[in-house]
Amino acid sequence: MPGIKNFRSEESEVLQAKEGEVLVRTQYLSVDPYMRGRMNEGKSYVPPFEINGVITGGVVGEVVESHSPALQKGDIVTGYLGWHLYQVARSEELTKIDPELAPVTTVLGILGIPGLTAYFGLLDIGKPKRDETVVVSGAAGAVGMTVCQIAKIKGCRVVGIAGSDEKNEYLEHELWVDKTVNYKTAGDLKRVLKDACPAGVDIYFDNVGGQVSDAVMSLINHRARTVICGQISLYNGEKPDVGPRIQPYLLAKSALMQGFIITDYATRFGEGVSQLAGWLKEGKLKYAENIVEGFENAPQAFLGLFSGENLGKQLVKVTDSESPTGPYK
Ligand code: NDP
Repeated sequence: MPGIKNFRSEESEVLQAKEGEVLVRTQYLSVDPYMRGRMNEGKSYVPPFEINGVITGGVVGEVVESHSPALQKGDIVTGYLGWHLYQVARSEELTKIDPELAPVTTVLGILGIPGLTAYFGLLDIGKPKRDETVVVSGAAGAVGMTVCQIAKIKGCRVVGIAGSDEKNEYLEHELWVDKTVNYKTAGDLKRVLKDACPAGVDIYFDNVGGQVSDAVMSLINHRARTVICGQISLYNGEKPDVGPRIQPYLLAKSALMQGFIITDYATRFGEGVSQLAGWLKEGKLKYAENIVEGFENAPQAFLGLFSGENLGKQLVKVTDSESPTGPYK
């Protein structure tokens, strides 16, 4: 488990933007579970962070100086940028966002990677059908709460698993999730889940892995689909975790299990965003954000993902006092 001691902040000169570049003032930083994988050595689907390097991730910011015809001062942009208050970026690394269409933070959440992950993972791999039972672990997080709602839109019965009663109340009362289970207090999780899923499990959307998933896998139905989206319970493990072997369940139930990385769907992001935005506008989809204020609190916000501090998308808001508009405006 990483700690605050693994992070440090430094002051340095802001670079001068050159031709084709803009100067961006950070407004929001996204902290995401996959960043933990980038803190390990070795090859994965994204390269590791460099020790003593700057953390990079999803950022929303304002263009405060432009040397590119593609962007103007005052434009709000997003991109994979560093955890800086100000930084220079090439305009083609950035996407301009329209604050009139939706709050700017949605580009890091419901209309960004978490929303798209829920959308493609559930619909393309899970292939939900009306009246099927869908179980979602990590159900009150950014991805999970979107999965729950899309499954409801598709007419499924949804069972959410999350780590606090407060989160579960939100899922049941705000998002119309049919049944919830608190995996921290359930005791015999398999029995509690069995009661929550009297018709068994047709789709398991797995955000957490580990013992929660062991319990769900024992309840899958004939031709069930298990979508492996994340394994957060294992990200801080020091050695490989060996649980019950699941192949017999897959065999006996003629069931499927598939992992995915959202960039597999990069060519279809437009389709996903437009459908998610449509549901948002129609009021069929809601989102929650947990916003921590203060650039210096970014490491704590990141670490909080592993103790379940967040309901919905965890973001960090850079406050005006930290990032005075100063000579740039
Ligand atoms: P979340 O908003 O869901 O935040 C993480 C949540 O995980 C916490 O709030 C906590 O909720 C839960 N959690 C933390 N530790 C554990 C644990 N040991 N056991 C069970 N639950 C735990 O994050 P995201 O929605 O951004 O991501 C959800 C999952 O999806 C992650 O595993 C992430 O890596 C994955 N992901 C995968 C992508 C892909 O391309 N495949 C893309 C984006 C995300 P609680 O209170 O319920 O414990």
